[in-house]
Amino acid sequence: MSYAVKEMFLTLQGEGAQTGRRAVFLRFAGCNLWSGREQDRAAAQCRFCDTDFVGTDGANGGRYEAEALARLAEELWGDAARPLVVATGGEPSLQLDVALIGALRARGFEVAIETNGTIAAPAGLDWICVSPKAGTQVVQRSGNELKLVWPQQGIDPDALLGWDFDHFLIQPMAGDDPESALRSSIRFVMDNPRWRLSLQTHKLLGLP
Ligand code: SF4
Repeated sequence: MSYAVKEMFLTLQGEGAQTGRRAVFLRFAGCNLWSGREQDRAAAQCRFCDTDFVGTDGANGGRYEAEALARLAEELWGDAARPLVVATGGEPSLQLDVALIGALRARGFEVAIETNGTIAAPAGLDWICVSPKAGTQVVQRSGNELKLVWPQQGIDPDALLGWDFDHFLIQPMAGDDPESALRSSIRFVMDNPRWRLSLQTHKLLGLP
């Protein structure tokens, strides 16, 4: 199988419970909740996306077999200890499979995923981050962190607390009114201390 990759680069994980950790980001092309085209946004199931996941034209983008992709991840990582690859998108569960996870793990990588949870995550992952979207059927209800973009109409955060995650995170929506989303998120966490605030620190730091 070959994988359609939008881009792949070395950076710091900017969000969530692993914020600040060195990571190779592997952004797969395509998502099952939006085409990625602006003209389709209003009718999409997910309408607040801030990511370009269309095509394979980003840094190190292209179509790869598992071994070639794992080798590229290794080249990007270099000789440093504790290698980590974060599979994101788009929706990585459309493509990430046990063959690619195996190829990455054989090179010593921990493999993390950032998924919308509408497709069950493949076996063999070291870290699962689910970011549920209102109005969708989330089947992946266990993992390491649940990251809820906030505010989102049509989602009951209390109901999510019954799912099997170690960390529950609220992240301000990077939409038309980020100031208001930040204030709302801070208020939410102050009122609901089982949740922690997650910021998109890579944006604050000017990292990709
Ligand atoms: S599910 Fe994620 S990648 Fe897909 S459109 Fe929504 S925010 Fe973007």
